[in-house]
Amino acid sequence: MSGGQFDLEVVGSTRRTPRVVEIGLRLPDDRPFTYVPGQFITLHLPDGAEELRRSYSIAVAPRGDGTIALAVGEVPEGRATRILFGVRPGDRLRASGPFGRFVLRDDEPAPRLYLVGTGTGIAPYRTMLPQIDRFLARDAARRVTLLLGVRTPEERLYGDEFRAFAAARPAFVFLSCQSRAVSEPPEPDERRGYVQHVLADLAPDPADAVVYLCGNPAMIDETTALLKARGFPLVNIRREKYVSSN
Ligand SMILES: Cc1cc2nc3c(=O)[nH]c(=O)nc-3n(C[C@H](O)[C@H](O)[C@H](O)COP(=O)(O)OP(=O)(O)OC[C@H]3O[C@@H](n4cnc5c(N)ncnc54)[C@H](O)[C@@H]3O)c2cc1C
Repeated sequence: MSGGQFDLEVVGSTRRTPRVVEIGLRLPDDRPFTYVPGQFITLHLPDGAEELRRSYSIAVAPRGDGTIALAVGEVPEGRATRILFGVRPGDRLRASGPFGRFVLRDDEPAPRLYLVGTGTGIAPYRTMLPQIDRFLARDAARRVTLLLGVRTPEERLYGDEFRAFAAARPAFVFLSCQSRAVSEPPEPDERRGYVQHVLADLAPDPADAVVYLCGNPAMIDETTALLKARGFPLVNIRREKYVSSN
């Protein structure tokens, strides 16, 4: 499947936050869809005489069947946004993939992971949750901290799932970093401010940590600069920038 293009059928579209829809998709002939958590697919969307190519991270852990889901954020005036916010069950979307190396290594030697995502850039980490569970179970000294960056509490994509995962695992910490507003009164896992500043306050140590960054390119550049200044080698900063390809 990873070579050529194929069709995916829309099975549903659910609004997850005021600015994000989750689109459920399946291979029409029910073949299993094989991917590694953290990978993305590229949609080939006809737009007039043009074909737009837009990539989206797979937002659900592998289910062993032909179904996947994508979390699509609303970009004002966005061309793919307009198409994808209007899809209906039964529509078909041309796709290629899965692609990408933004994945957890099963042999990851670092005991400490920081997973940072802004907006829909949190989707790959949702897909990785079963793998994170196994990572933590292998050694009691391991820790994973997940930082979600959004503007307001309403925009906390998959926040309830990360909270529930954290509540059951003391070695997993979830922090929702909100740049414009926090709940009143603030909830224990909420932080006011940008995700990169909350990460800097946590003082990740290059001696034992690997940092994953996904989403807004400006956040990724700023966080990379902060981490390099703390002594992180680039190889321990894994990045996926959400930028349009044409
Ligand atoms: C590997 C990869 C994975 C991705 N995964 C996801 C995903 O899981 N979910 C998701 O929603 N998007 C994801 N993206 C981004 C996605 O591919 C599109 O870029 C995005 O949906 C905007 O496309 P558009 O055609 O609607 O906007 P465009 O028509 O391309 O852009 C319209 C305007 O908005 C600006 N713009 C473009 N993207 C953004 C943005 N993200 N935020 C603010 N302004 C923007 C552009 O510069 C332009 O001025 C991913 C990108 C990559 C490269």
